[in-house]
Amino acid sequence: MIRYIAFDADDTLWENEPYFRETEGNFIHMLAPNSDYNEEELKELMFHYIVKNVPLYGYGTRSLMLSLMGFCNQYATKNLSEMIDKTIALGQKQLLKPVVLLPHVRETLEHLSKQYKLLMITKGDLMEQQRKIKESGIDHLFEHIRVLEEKDEKSYADFFNEVGINILEVVMVGNSYKSDVLPIEALGGNAVFIPYKSTWAFEHADKKESDLIHERNNITEVPVLIKALQQEEKCVSPSL
Ligand SMILES: [Mg+2]
Repeated sequence: MIRYIAFDADDTLWENEPYFRETEGNFIHMLAPNSDYNEEELKELMFHYIVKNVPLYGYGTRSLMLSLMGFCNQYATKNLSEMIDKTIALGQKQLLKPVVLLPHVRETLEHLSKQYKLLMITKGDLMEQQRKIKESGIDHLFEHIRVLEEKDEKSYADFFNEVGINILEVVMVGNSYKSDVLPIEALGGNAVFIPYKSTWAFEHADKKESDLIHERNNITEVPVLIKALQQEEKCVSPSL
């Protein structure tokens, strides 16, 4: 019996990835004339530099700022101090971006919250995520909101254990196959993959065939899917 619908937050409930791409684009544009590399080369080098730092710095804008400053220091051939200042300004601008809910999120959550308990499970920088959660104006709809450091099988299992929720009663909805879909499926829960227009290459994962994995284009399709999953369960176990 499905009782809980869990949602990823960034690029599932609100815009996030475009802000990172914009900051990185502005950064590369600023750095290229002050380095021996062109924009394309820097973009590639920057991606690997940022990903290498994830285990140390984690996710989020402040981690990005740290990485970009280190990158600047490594690849700039002139105007370093000025570019470090500009990098900090780019990061601060991103930290203050408004929280913009994706289309149909609010009404879909309001609708689902009448029948199910909603969970928000996101990852990243605690302070940054908390600001977004507070500003989103939808935080009151969730039974539990959790910011995890990483979204893998262990961290999900620990979270569900801690709050006393059986994963078999959960459907997780998110835009990252790697973080929102595969670990939940591995734990035996249902996962709904809703791809977003842009996904960080680091979050890429090969797709898997599984009865527990469902792909939909839009959050508005989630209530119908959940109804169908409930029906299926009733057919499998008619005594319930
Ligand atoms: Mg996401």
